[in-house]
This record gives sequence, C-alpha cells and structure tokens, in this order.
Amino acid sequence: MSASPIPTSSGQMDVLDPQDGSLVERIERYDARGMQQAIDRADAALSRARRMPVHERMRVLYDASDYVDRHRQAFADILAREGVKTINEARAEVARAVMTLRLSAEETRRIVGNTIAFDQRPGSENRFGYSRRIPVGLIGAITPFNDPLNLVAHKVGPAIAGGNAVIVKPHEATPLSAIKLLEAFHEAGIEEGILQVIPGYGRDAGDALVTDDRVRMISFTGGRETGERIMQRAGLKKFGMELGSNSPTLIMDDADLEQAIPAVVGGAIAAAGQNCLHVQRLLLHERIYDEARDRFIAGMKGIRYGDKYSEDMDMGPLIDEAAADRVEAAVEQAIADGARCLVGNERDGNFFAPTVLEQVPDNHPMVKDEIFGPVTSLHRFSDEDEAIEIANNVDYGLHAGVFTRDVDAAFRIADALECGGVMINDSSDYRLDAAPFGGVKGSGIGREGVGYVLNEMTEPKVYCFNIRFPHGWT
Ligand code: NAP
Repeated sequence: MSASPIPTSSGQMDVLDPQDGSLVERIERYDARGMQQAIDRADAALSRARRMPVHERMRVLYDASDYVDRHRQAFADILAREGVKTINEARAEVARAVMTLRLSAEETRRIVGNTIAFDQRPGSENRFGYSRRIPVGLIGAITPFNDPLNLVAHKVGPAIAGGNAVIVKPHEATPLSAIKLLEAFHEAGIEEGILQVIPGYGRDAGDALVTDDRVRMISFTGGRETGERIMQRAGLKKFGMELGSNSPTLIMDDADLEQAIPAVVGGAIAAAGQNCLHVQRLLLHERIYDEARDRFIAGMKGIRYGDKYSEDMDMGPLIDEAAADRVEAAVEQAIADGARCLVGNERDGNFFAPTVLEQVPDNHPMVKDEIFGPVTSLHRFSDEDEAIEIANNVDYGLHAGVFTRDVDAAFRIADALECGGVMINDSSDYRLDAAPFGGVKGSGIGREGVGYVLNEMTEPKVYCFNIRFPHGWT
C-alpha cells in the first residue's frame, strides 16, 4: 500500500453561486506543494493502477456510474448550485456523466493490440509477435467550469479504464461536482491514490501538475490561451487539448425551419452560451433569411432566464461578474463598429439576455473569437460556396451544423467544412459522448469520446519472439 501522505492544503477557497454570489461551500485549497504531494501519491499508486485486471476496472467504473445514477438528484443540485446551468440542464449533464462512465466500463474490455507480421522482412521468418496497449502512466486532467461533471467523467473514466492513475484539477469556480464524483469512486472501492481531485488555482496547483515530469499526459479542456500556455510549460508529455470554438450552423434555403429554429435557439442558449459547441454564428440562405431571422428572434425572445433552481427556467447566469463584463463589452464594441442588435443586450447582474446581432463587420472579433456567452450573429449567404467560405473563415473548427433536405448538398458541405464534426439537421451543439470529439485549427489536438481517447491514454507495446522453429512454421 502507498506510504505517501495525503496532500496538505494551503488554505481554503470559497465556491460561490454565480447567480447571486452566495457561499455554496468553503473547501480545502491546494497549491503547488499540495499538488506535488498528490503527484507523489499517484506515482506510488501507479503500479497498482496498471495491475488492476480488466474485470476490476470494469466493476469500479460500473459501480461509480451506478452511484452517480442513484444519487442523480444530489449531483444535479451541486452542479446547478456551483455552475451556470439550470436545474434541468444539470439533470441532463448528470445523465450524460452516467453514460460516459458506463461507456468507459464497456470500452475497457476492448483495449486490445494486434499481431504483427514480423516475417514480412527477409531474415525475420522465425519471428512472431504482437502489440498490447499499456497505460500511459500518470494523467493530469484539467477541466473547465461549463460541464463540471461530464467533462471530468470524460477524463477520469477512460484514464481508469486504461490502467492509469489520474489527478483532476477542476476549475476553481466549480470543484464540487468533481469532488462528489470522487465520492462515487471511493464508494466503488478505488484504491488510494489512483484517482485524486485537487482543487486549487490554475496558476499554482495547475502549473505544478503541468510541469512535473512524472505526469505523462495532460488531458486539458478549456480556453485556447490557457491551452497554449500549458503546452509551452509542460515539456515532454502527451497532450489532449479540447479548446474553444465559434461554431457555425448553416440553414440552407430548402431546410425545414420548424426543425431548424428550435434546434439553433437551444444551441444558442445552452449553459448561457458558455459551451464550446455554442451556435455563435448562424448562417442563413438569402432566400429564407428574413423568415429564419424573425423566427430565430422570436425563439430567443421566448427564452426564460433567471433563477437556476426554477423548473421553468431555460437559461442561467454567466459564471462571474468578469464574464458578464466581457460579454457586455464585446456586444457594445460590435454595435459601435456597425453591428445591429435585434434582441437582447440586456444585463442584470451576472445574467445576460439572449442576444442576436446582424451586420457584424467581416473579420470582427465578434465572429473571429469565441464569445462564450448567449450571443449569436447572423450572416447572409447566397450559395453553398459562400456559406462554406464564411463558415471556414475563422481559426477554430470544433463542430458545425447544417440544415438541408438535400442529401447531396449535405454531403458536399459536410466534407468542405473545416471542423471535427458536422451535425446534419442538428445545430453545432449536438454531441454524443460515444462519438469521437475534438477540433481542428485552434480548437485543439486529439479526440475525446470514450473509445477514442483510450487510444491516447494507452500506448502500444511490442512483444517479439525469436522462435527456434524451421522456416514456414505457420
Ligand atoms: P480556462 O479559463 O482555460 O480554464 C480551464 C482550466 O485550466 C481551469 O481548471 C483553470 O484553472 C486551468 N488553468 C488556468 N490557468 C492554468 C495554468 N497556467 N496551468 C494549468 N491550468 C490552468 O477555461 P474555462 O473558462 O474554464 O472554460 C472555457 C473554455 O473551455 C472555452 O474556451 C470553451 O470553449 C472551452 N471548452 C472546450 C470544450 C471542448 O471539449 N473542446 C468543452 C468545454 C469547454 P482555474 O480554475 O484556476 O482558472
């Protein structure tokens, strides 16, 4: 058993409710020294993580998943209190986390290698061998505030499935969902040190995790600037980088608007726009522009925002005052630079109304950068090529949505869009946790999605036997 002591905290941190600033909980906070102690502990646990048989990894993951499922209301309450989601959005995230952990359990038995034809090289006729996938080792998981449970599950589940040890550094604003998830794994009997959750600030606890040579992979979800800083600091490691975007959704002139508009409204306001798949740019064919715009505005006007705990609310607040200031300033700047505001641009504390802009100047930061708030800009196009050009004219590429009834056009457009996933007749916001997920350009490196990230969290090891058989033994 591990002789490494439990990490010591360096003080406390307050977790505040973003909607009114009230104290949710005061928790232990760890700095660089605490993180190093956690790394010592994980390092000592590594050999036990590696030796966990597949059936045991599966049992732990299934049991943890069942625990979350049984306590889903408690998880949803914590998630809604510390984060930006309404109680209904929080419940949906908990259900997805249950699925992510179950998928992790199922994928564990599919971590397989392959046999290798060593006899393809003259002189190697007597050699026989195979590869099997071995754990990467210690994984540092750094997570954002917007999906504080499911995005942690997307790192912890596959890390354990792959036989790794993992330390989670959750976002300073939303550590409680991750701590509650740790409880599920403790109940499932995970051994000491294999999974730890270390709340603290990115600049000290996070940096200590990133820069330690014993950490073999950083699995990061967060903003692009933070991701780039981490890559500069980290040294020789593997990286999974799930970064931001400013996703486009295209509505062609033959689209079913009854289907399209509710989907894009939902994708524009989910998590109050603090969502990497947020419908930030809505591209409308000129023949349906006016009708689609009017329907979209009506949909956005109908969004109820306010008290997260009310069953009737569609949308909650921004994460903090600084975020609300940033979104408000970005909208004001776009208007000052010539954009028209069609609805929204109202602020009440940390709440920001669903906002629709049009005539945003080309190459404006409002369309080039990630807004990370409930703001969508409208763009008019006259044909497929123009739509593709507008959609691709950014330095991000996570998801895109396309609404059309023409299957040939759907195929052509999906092929031409520069991004990690295209949702046909869905907004950019649709995601299945079992599918590969990640971006191109500034949206990141590598793929999550349980079965896919397992390829990143394990590595092939080759076993070659030089056998004293005569030639042609097969
Ligand atoms: P963020 O500010 O980049 O923070 C993400 C995490 O990085 C937090 O835990 C943060 O710690 C930590 N961190 C900050 N500086 C660090 C450093 N120097 N070293 C190590 N860790 C450090 O991102 P966010 O505001 O939480 O999330 C929003 C971004 O995440 C958006 O861009 C969004 O699009 C992206 N996102 C991407 C995906 C995806 O799958 N592609 C999914 C969700 C969100 P602190 O808590 O101390 O700040």
